[in-house]
Amino acid sequence: MESTPATAQPRFLDYDKSLACIHCGLCLSSCPTYLETGNENDSPRGRIYLMRAVQDGRLALGDTAVRHIDLCLGCRACEAVCPSGVQYGDLLEHTRDHIEKHYQRSPFQTFLRRIAIEKVFPFPERMQLALLPAKIIRALRLEKFLPRFAREALSLIPDDAVEEDLPVISPAPGGTANGRAGFISGCVMSILFGKTNAASVRLLNRAGYEVVTPPDQGCCGALYAHSGQLELARQCARHNIEVFERQNVSTIVINAAGCGSTLKEYGHLLQDDPRWAERARQFSSKVKDLTEILSLRISGFGLRISNSGPVVTYHDACHLAHPQRITKQPRELVRAMAGGNYVELPESDVCCGSAGSYNLTEPEMAERLQKRKIDNILKTGARIVVTTNPGCLLQIRAGLQKAGAQVEALHIADFLDRATKP
Ligand code: SF4
Ligand code: SF4
Repeated sequence: MESTPATAQPRFLDYDKSLACIHCGLCLSSCPTYLETGNENDSPRGRIYLMRAVQDGRLALGDTAVRHIDLCLGCRACEAVCPSGVQYGDLLEHTRDHIEKHYQRSPFQTFLRRIAIEKVFPFPERMQLALLPAKIIRALRLEKFLPRFAREALSLIPDDAVEEDLPVISPAPGGTANGRAGFISGCVMSILFGKTNAASVRLLNRAGYEVVTPPDQGCCGALYAHSGQLELARQCARHNIEVFERQNVSTIVINAAGCGSTLKEYGHLLQDDPRWAERARQFSSKVKDLTEILSLRISGFGLRISNSGPVVTYHDACHLAHPQRITKQPRELVRAMAGGNYVELPESDVCCGSAGSYNLTEPEMAERLQKRKIDNILKTGARIVVTTNPGCLLQIRAGLQKAGAQVEALHIADFLDRATKP
């Protein structure tokens, strides 16, 4: 739907940031969509060019430009390899914010994005309700009557989804030598991976932290920030900052890579809000991924190396590896248990196609990347693939099931919890 003629647009792009791109092309081979299509417009360099062309009014904010921006996973692999320090994620978020305000999407895409995703995912009670029809369809084996898109979406929902209410305070039985940590339970994590959240808290307790999980915390805002709803993301940030300020914690721990990267960027998200900028910076400075915390205590909480166990590999969740640059710590933890049975995954940091809600809005590219990831996992001969993000777990599990592969996909907290149970 071409909706806006090629005229100068209201200012949405930080021009200096976009000019940092020197067109060297070093990011191209890291970009999953470019690897799949070979089209320059589906590369970081091409997309920055498109953003600038729209901003200058040389290109209409229409189907062509929006298509290539929509196809971006927001994985930020390009940012991690850029020698010029281009802040691609920031350029993308502002461009998407502009698109959502000024471009008319099809009725189906509008329903999918504004209602099915944004009005459900960030609200655990609504997500529980939305899962009910899926469970009934599965129980009655009615999947084959669904259109392909719906079947794909259904395949992402785990059979063993468990909600688990965490206690507000989880004391550390062996003592709280390392203080009091706040825990972010997450929207998807708390509904689909309740057991993983409980395992994360147990690991923190064993590592010497008393853990507080405030029940009034809310969505981190990642879903909104990545889909071009920056003001909604800011509202989520303000709420969580207030909630955790009341808890007197020195550290705030998150076990979902996608949420972690947004929580660490609250300072940036609220930098222009004088009432919140400093509080947001303070909050973000306390946020740590679970693997950052546990790798510091690796000798203290009893990992047992087992060279006779199954072969294990590790998939880098994009938002842990690229914006947070955390690749060493999870590997140290997995190796500390798997010993000689650890194998590196080829293209471990290429997106699996999950990318937040991308596998719902862009199912075709998501499926191509899912297959690429599964082929690489199978090449390793691993029986366990470990990762750090719920979206990756759902996407990889669904892909393994489609391939009929006998490989278990585990969150790192579940993997380590098994290895450290007293
Ligand atoms: S690596 Fe950086 S500077 Fe080079 S083309 Fe990519 S975004 Fe531009
Ligand atoms: S964020 Fe990922 S998909 Fe988007 S341009 Fe960068 S590398 Fe490519």
